[in-house]
Amino acid sequence: MRFQFPIIIIDEDFRSENTSGFGVRALAKAIEGEGIEVLGVTGYGDLASFAQQQSRASTFIVSIDDEEFNSEEEADRVIENLRQFVAEIRFRNADIPIFLYGETRTSRHIPNDVLREMHGFIHMFEDTPEFIARYVVREARSYLDSLAPPFFRALTHYAADGSYSWHCPGHSGGVAFLKSPVGQMFHQFFGENMLRADVCNAVDELGQLLDHTGPVAASERNAARIFHCDHLYFVTNGTSTSNKMVWHSTVAPGDVVVVDRNCHKSILHSIIMTGAVPVFLTPTRNHYGIIGPIPLEEFKIENIRKKIAANPFVSKTAAKNPRILTITQSTYDGVLYNVEAIKEMLDGEIDTLHFDEAWLPHAAFHDFYGDYHAIGEDRGRCKESMIFSTQSTHKMLAGLSQASQILVQDSEERQLDRDIFNEAYLMHTSTSPQYSIIASCDVAAAMMEPPGGPALVEESLAEALDFRRAMRKVDDEFGDNDWWFKVWGPEYLSDDGIPEREDWMLKAGERWHGFGDLAPGFNMLDPIKATLITPGLDVDGDFAEWGIPAGVLTKYLAEHGIVVEKTGLYSFFIMFTIGITKGRWNTLVTELQQFKDDFDRNRPLWRVMPEFIAKHPRYERVGLKDLCMQIHAFYQKHDVARLTTEMYLSDMVPAMRPTDAFAKTAHREVDRVPIDDLEGRVTSVLLTPYPPGIPLLIPGERFNATIVRYLKFARDFNGSFPGFETDIHGLVKADVNGQTGYCVDCVIQD
Ligand SMILES: *Cc1c(COP(=O)(O)O)cnc(C)c1O
Repeated sequence: MRFQFPIIIIDEDFRSENTSGFGVRALAKAIEGEGIEVLGVTGYGDLASFAQQQSRASTFIVSIDDEEFNSEEEADRVIENLRQFVAEIRFRNADIPIFLYGETRTSRHIPNDVLREMHGFIHMFEDTPEFIARYVVREARSYLDSLAPPFFRALTHYAADGSYSWHCPGHSGGVAFLKSPVGQMFHQFFGENMLRADVCNAVDELGQLLDHTGPVAASERNAARIFHCDHLYFVTNGTSTSNKMVWHSTVAPGDVVVVDRNCHKSILHSIIMTGAVPVFLTPTRNHYGIIGPIPLEEFKIENIRKKIAANPFVSKTAAKNPRILTITQSTYDGVLYNVEAIKEMLDGEIDTLHFDEAWLPHAAFHDFYGDYHAIGEDRGRCKESMIFSTQSTHKMLAGLSQASQILVQDSEERQLDRDIFNEAYLMHTSTSPQYSIIASCDVAAAMMEPPGGPALVEESLAEALDFRRAMRKVDDEFGDNDWWFKVWGPEYLSDDGIPEREDWMLKAGERWHGFGDLAPGFNMLDPIKATLITPGLDVDGDFAEWGIPAGVLTKYLAEHGIVVEKTGLYSFFIMFTIGITKGRWNTLVTELQQFKDDFDRNRPLWRVMPEFIAKHPRYERVGLKDLCMQIHAFYQKHDVARLTTEMYLSDMVPAMRPTDAFAKTAHREVDRVPIDDLEGRVTSVLLTPYPPGIPLLIPGERFNATIVRYLKFARDFNGSFPGFETDIHGLVKADVNGQTGYCVDCVIQD
C-alpha cells in the first residue's frame, strides 16, 4: 500500500528565477524522482492553519538562505517565524521530520532551542540534490512506517498482499459484487480497499478479536497504554454491547445493582438480561428538560442501603454488597461527576464501579477534565472496587459507527480475571466481527497519543468556547433582548483561550442550571457539549407569551443543511467532537440569524421549509411564526414542562423484577392496554419518549396518573401536529374500540 504524504518545502524563492530558486527546485525534482510528491510553498501564511498540514505531510523542509540574515531586523523576524512554525508543528506532532535547508550563516544564526527540534540541517550547495533527496526520503519513509498501529498495519499488509481466499465472507475481497450491475455500483462506491479488508477470522496473521491474540491483542495493549488503563477491550458492536459485557461478567440473577435512573437503554436491557434487582439513583432535572447530576447525598452507602431495604424483590440471601454501580458519566448535556469522590464513598461497598462514558473518551487527553472522568494518567486505584469505563469511540473520537471500548482499572486487592471476563465478552460478540471497525478502534486510539490527541481535544475545547463567544457577540449586537438563542452554561465566559475548570463547575443554587443545592466540587459541565435554549420557557417551567419550540427550529435548520444531535421542547443540542470545523459552527450562527429573520417576517412555510411542506402540505400557507405560536400555545395549555419533570421525578413503584416482567412478554402473557386504561397497570416493556430518549418506565413498573397524563398529551399533540410527533418507543398501534389507537403491552393482571 502506497500512502500519499507529500514532502512540503517552504521557501520564499520556490518560484524565483535566482540561484536559490533553481537550487530548491532541483531538490524538489530529485525528491519526486524518489517517488514522493513535493509541495512547494513560498510562506507559512496563517501559521496555525498551516501547521495542520502536518497530518498530510511526510516531512517539512524549511529553506532559509544567507540573504535573509542581511539585517538584524530581518534575521529576528525569520527566526521568530521559524520558532513559531516549529512550535505549532510540535504541539501536534512530535515525530514528523523537519529539515532546515540553508547556508553557512543560517546554521550560525538559528538558536539551539529551535535546532533541537529539527531532524537535520541540509547545506544548500555541499551535496548533490540526488544525494540530499535520498537522505530526506529515507527519513520521510521511516516516519510514515512508524505511524500505523499494530492491527491497522497488519490489515493494510493483508489487503495489499493479493492472496486468493477460500474463506468467508462470500464476496471474496469484493469480487462477487463485480458480477452484477448493482454489485458494481456497491463496489465503486465503497472502493476496493474496504472490500479487500473485509476478511473473516480465519486469517491467522491478523490475530483474533474473540481470543485477543496477535495484532488485535497488540493493538488493545497499545490502546490500554494510551488510555492509561490496565486492560482494554475493543468492541465492534457499540457501547450498547460493551455495557452488556461488563454487566454479564459480574451480575447474576437476583443480584442487587445500583443504577443511574438517567441511563442508556442498554443498561436497562442488561438488568433484564441478567435478572438483577435494581435500585435507582434519581438525577435532578430542570424545567428546560435538561437532566442534571444525581446529588452527592444519594451516593452515600447509607442511602443506598435504605433503598435496598425498601425494595420488596431483594432476597434475604442476596450478597450484602451491590454487585455494580452504573453512572452515566457525561449526560447528553455534558454534566460530569468527580470520580474520585465517588470512589472514596463507595470503594469496598460496591464491587464494580462502572462509568458509562459513551460521550467521554476524550477526557483522558486534557488536563481540563481533571478527576471528572473514570480512568486516566496518575489516577489512584480503589482498595477493593474495580473501575470500568465503557466508551463509544465513534461518538467523540474518530471511530466508525459501533466502534467502542471497555477500559478496566484493577483495584489494589483484585485484578481482572481475563478468562472469566472473556466468557461474557464472547456471549455478546459475533463470531464474524467487522475488521474495519477493529481497525478504526485501533486508529482512533493511536490518534489520541500525545501530543496529537491532546492537541485535538484542546482544539475542540477552543472551538466550543469560540462558538459560545460568537453567540454572545450576536446577542450584544442585537441588544434589547432582541436575540433569543442562548447557549446553556455558566454566566461567566472568559474572553479568550481555552476553558478553566473552575469556570465550568456546577455551583450550589445557581439559576442557570436550576439543579438546586449541589455539593461543592462534585460536578462540572463539559463545554464541548452545547445545549442551545430557544425562547418560550424559563428554567422554572413558566411559559412566556410567545415561544419557538425547538422542534420547528431544528426542522428548519435541517433543511438548511444543519442536522443537530438531539431536540428537546425548547432546547437542542450540538457537540464539538474532534471532527469540528470553524465553518460548521459559523454556519449554525448564521442560520440562526436567518431563522430569526424569517420568523420576524412570518414567512410562509412553503417558502422557508419546502422539503417539509412536500411531506406535510397541510402547513403550506402557515407562517413560520404562526406555526411556532400554535405549538407553543399547545405546550402551554398542557403545562408540558412541569408535566415531564414531574413524570420523570415521580416515584416509580416496582411490582415485579424487570426480568420477570419481560419473561411475560416472551411468553405472550400480556394485554395490549389502551392509554386511557393504563393507570395502575404493570408494563412488560420499556417505555422511552424521544426526546429525551431516557427510559421512563421499565418492565415490572406500574403506570401512575402523571405518566398516563403525559401519554394522553403526546397522543393529542401527535394528532394536532403531524410532522412534529413525539416518538415514544414502547407504544404500539392497535385496535381500540374499532379505531387505531396507542397501547402498551402490560402484564396480565390476576
Ligand atoms: C450512545 C450511548 C450508549 C450506547 O452506545 P452505542 O455505541 O451507540 O451502542 C450507551 N450509553 C450512553 C450514555 C450513550 O449515550
